[in-house]
Amino acid sequence: MEKLIKYTKGSGCARDLLLDNGFDDLIDFPLELFASGFGATIIHKPMINSDGRIIFGKKNTIIEINNNIPFEEKKRFTIAHEIGHLIMHKGIDIHNDNESTMSWFNNKEKQAKSGRVEYEANQFASELLMPSLIFQEKQKGIKFSPQLLRDLSSYFKTSLTSVAFKYLELGDHPICLFHSYNKTVKYWMRNIDFPHYITDYTKLQPPEDSVAMEFFEKGKIYNKEKSRQPIWKSTWLELKNWENDNDFNFYEFCIITPAYNSVISVIWEE
Ligand SMILES: [Zn+2]
Repeated sequence: MEKLIKYTKGSGCARDLLLDNGFDDLIDFPLELFASGFGATIIHKPMINSDGRIIFGKKNTIIEINNNIPFEEKKRFTIAHEIGHLIMHKGIDIHNDNESTMSWFNNKEKQAKSGRVEYEANQFASELLMPSLIFQEKQKGIKFSPQLLRDLSSYFKTSLTSVAFKYLELGDHPICLFHSYNKTVKYWMRNIDFPHYITDYTKLQPPEDSVAMEFFEKGKIYNKEKSRQPIWKSTWLELKNWENDNDFNFYEFCIITPAYNSVISVIWEE
């Protein structure tokens, strides 16, 4: 059964913006042109310690995007995130974004004001680039795999990380995600239908036998063909005392950003 789409402040705002301006999606529409319609000029330039930033002016607003971001998909997500600030957060003067602000997908963190603003901008960007109804259509009937996430990322022209979070929300196969940074688990999220208990590693090291830990300890990054790595159920999840690790088929796919020492572990059962 299809999941009910629940719009948040950020995603609802993006959905309305597309609707009001007569767009089904922005897959083939330049974001620069879209932003200029709302009074913002986008400038691509080299930046240090920053993926993007927005400078609100009285008449014109400038959005700067780091042209050293290696992937077009990630650039587009960053632009969409800044457009979110442009539409929803006028008056915050200058605002800088990097890996830490851009990874504020976590609902729990939004109590803090800065966290809430980032969460809204990410929700906005996600919906602007991957309208929920179209996303649901696109993944329907396709078996879950790292390749599915990569295909969705190239179809919607947005970052793999943002696709993984969207899939967790709306995809047909239940998955969970662990975000680790500097060898510490920052948070985890799971799809509401994910039928297993999670071992809470928040603020702890990732499990010894996880693929995430293999990256932190040995710098190991699997190539595309091997990016679906078998793991034990007990690696990230609670193994009940009546259960046997051999009876389960769990996998871990790591989305790794070496420059930020950051790993998103996607966990699922086949
Ligand atoms: Zn931001």
